[in-house]
Amino acid sequence: MRTLFYYHPDFLEHNPGRGHPERPERLRAIIDGLKDSSLDQQVEWVEPQTVDPSYLKGIHSDEYVERILALDGCSTALDPDTVVSPGSVRAALRAAGAAVEAAKAVLSSSRTVAFCAVRPPGHHAERNRAMGFCLFNNVAIAADRVITEGLARRVVIFDPDLHHGNGTQNAFYRRNDVFYISIHRYPYYPGTGAISETGEGEGQGFTANVPLPGGMGDDDYMFVVMELVLPVMESFRPELLLVSAGFDAHVSDPLGDMSVTESGFVGMYSRIMTKALEKNIKCAFILEGGYDLYALRSSVSSILETLIEEKFEHSHEIRPCQEVQEIVDFVIERLRI
Ligand SMILES: [Zn+2]
Repeated sequence: MRTLFYYHPDFLEHNPGRGHPERPERLRAIIDGLKDSSLDQQVEWVEPQTVDPSYLKGIHSDEYVERILALDGCSTALDPDTVVSPGSVRAALRAAGAAVEAAKAVLSSSRTVAFCAVRPPGHHAERNRAMGFCLFNNVAIAADRVITEGLARRVVIFDPDLHHGNGTQNAFYRRNDVFYISIHRYPYYPGTGAISETGEGEGQGFTANVPLPGGMGDDDYMFVVMELVLPVMESFRPELLLVSAGFDAHVSDPLGDMSVTESGFVGMYSRIMTKALEKNIKCAFILEGGYDLYALRSSVSSILETLIEEKFEHSHEIRPCQEVQEIVDFVIERLRI
């Protein structure tokens, strides 16, 4: 499958400082992994532009956007976790630009998928607030933009990052044109993502939270995909699926204690891609978390190889734990699917 790979050296210029887990080496590890497996020759490299700042205002307040833009070239901490270095604003503008460009590119071409290797990540960024390493909500901006431009009527955002994407959920909590699905550890940072959070007003039933205890592994995550994500793709009929592609649920990740492996990620995304091809739903992956360099490198390489070669893996029997089955049953009853 034609696979677009969005990357720009500016992403390395966002430097939250020594010892910060969200560090430039994350992207260097991903790129090294591609080169070592020759996948770099098989993807189509795209250098994204910085986003048009007016696009940010579909998701963030005017005042917030102006406040962040004014920090270009500065060093400061927006909260204890979220640090701006002189290159951060430019990197963040390019990360949002990559998400928007990737969404548009896959919508306008056939049998094309995109992976955005971007920093800083986005899913914690709120309308008025930077948090959790995130400045602009890349995925939310892309979803909002393609709907605003009439390129898609409905978008699904699937967010299997270890952490709940509070910013993304809030952006669409009252909307019925973007269906947000998150699998995350709970209770955990950032504290949101309870099973009872299912949307409000017109958005009621269009947010699905699957809060999990620690230790959940490949079969548990694949079960959620099969029982929840695939049925939403069928019934909501989106033109586009954006993945908030976090890898901090990996068994080796230092920030969490989930047990997902490379083959779990491949299994999840194989099932999603098979359904997407069947239903003509276009897909773009936008990097979020993932802090073990080797896990990040090998997970991204495995997924890209799967996408390029369309080696979609479905074979093995899924044995989720009882608790996950009960959570998913509870969630499904409360959704518009
Ligand atoms: Zn995370």
